[in-house]
Amino acid sequence: LPGYIANPIKTLTQSIKQIAAKNYNERIHFEGNDEFAELANAFNSMAEKLGEYENSNLAKLMFEKKRIETIINNMNDPVIGISEENKVLFANNEALKILGLKDTDLIGKHIQQVSGMNDLFRSLVSDSSPSVNNKKEPLKIYANGKESYFEKEIIEINAYQNTDDKRPLGHVIALKNITPFKELDFAKTNFIATVSHELKTPISAIKMSLQLLKAEKTGETNTEQKQLLESIADDTERLLKITGELLNLSAVETGNIQLNLQDAEPLQIVSYATEAVKVTAEQKNITLSVKAPVTLPLVKADAEKTAWVLINLLTNAIRYSPEYSEVVIELSQQDSKVLFTVKDTGKGIDARYRERIFDRYFQVPGSNKTGTGLGLAISKEFIEAQGGAIALESEIGMGSRFYFSLNI
Ligand code: ADP
Repeated sequence: LPGYIANPIKTLTQSIKQIAAKNYNERIHFEGNDEFAELANAFNSMAEKLGEYENSNLAKLMFEKKRIETIINNMNDPVIGISEENKVLFANNEALKILGLKDTDLIGKHIQQVSGMNDLFRSLVSDSSPSVNNKKEPLKIYANGKESYFEKEIIEINAYQNTDDKRPLGHVIALKNITPFKELDFAKTNFIATVSHELKTPISAIKMSLQLLKAEKTGETNTEQKQLLESIADDTERLLKITGELLNLSAVETGNIQLNLQDAEPLQIVSYATEAVKVTAEQKNITLSVKAPVTLPLVKADAEKTAWVLINLLTNAIRYSPEYSEVVIELSQQDSKVLFTVKDTGKGIDARYRERIFDRYFQVPGSNKTGTGLGLAISKEFIEAQGGAIALESEIGMGSRFYFSLNI
């Protein structure tokens, strides 16, 4: 009798242990059709259900994994996954294509190992992609049979057990293909360059004709005609300024700033610029004063471009200053640099716009709309191309102080 009860219980205990070890093929067979046989049946059907459940779960997980892999693989943008131990976890087809590598060259390898044999991979995993003025420059990569542009984004992946426990799981390098935008941008720059170039000649011709018209030799003009001629002349000047700015902008955007660096006299640049804005200042009764030490070293500069910048700063200072005020141009030496400063007592620039003032097309809301918003952006490019720096200080209602430095 004890064996009759103990033996099946022993068998059952062992089988339960098998189930606990995920061995769902375990089955029990008891002779007869008493309660133990019924128990064996119940156990077997439980084991069968557990087996089915396990298989369907695994199949589902495999399917989901495949699905995610397919999605990543079919993305048009290259994506590379790196583990927390700096090993390559995955790289989609686009990534393999631009790298020119097979997945066996990449997957599971340490990033240092791959960097050693692939320059592009090295620049992708190094965090220091070239940056200009703190803005990340797009990566230029030969892909899809042409020069392509990509923006790199590094996404850190963290797993959260709970809100305090953050565990790094590696990171993903995603490249966004911005070639279509770059191509449109090139087309726009080319268009601007062509149109402004084409416009320059007829506008200059209008200016010439105006000068002839104003000359006594061409015939007498009455007061009303003279006023009309003056206003045509003003508009012509403005058009010339705009086309000049647009041409400069296209040179800046295509990286074609042609610098003619020479030893230049700072005061000479200043007097050229003040001469150019003299009439505009007189119209508003604004005094232009120049303050400079007796001796100043020469600067390494493109005198024409520097004068252009100074004229732009002076024109702005005059435009935003009240009548009968003063605009001061100050020159000083600071270590191995000469500082050019233009100070006005105009309306000043609100702190929240100061960051964006050197952005292309940016104009402070509500300011004089006749400009293009390009002057300061081009000025910054011109000064930085010469190895200098440009900045401003301003207080609303108190005026602005723009300054730039050039190397001695
Ligand atoms: P533009 O003068 O053609 O609009 P700029 O790039 O030269 O373009 O200037 C950008 C904007 O910065 C101007 O629209 C104006 O709002 C502001 N700004 C520039 N200089 C001054 C200044 N001296 N005082 C006040 N605001 C200024």
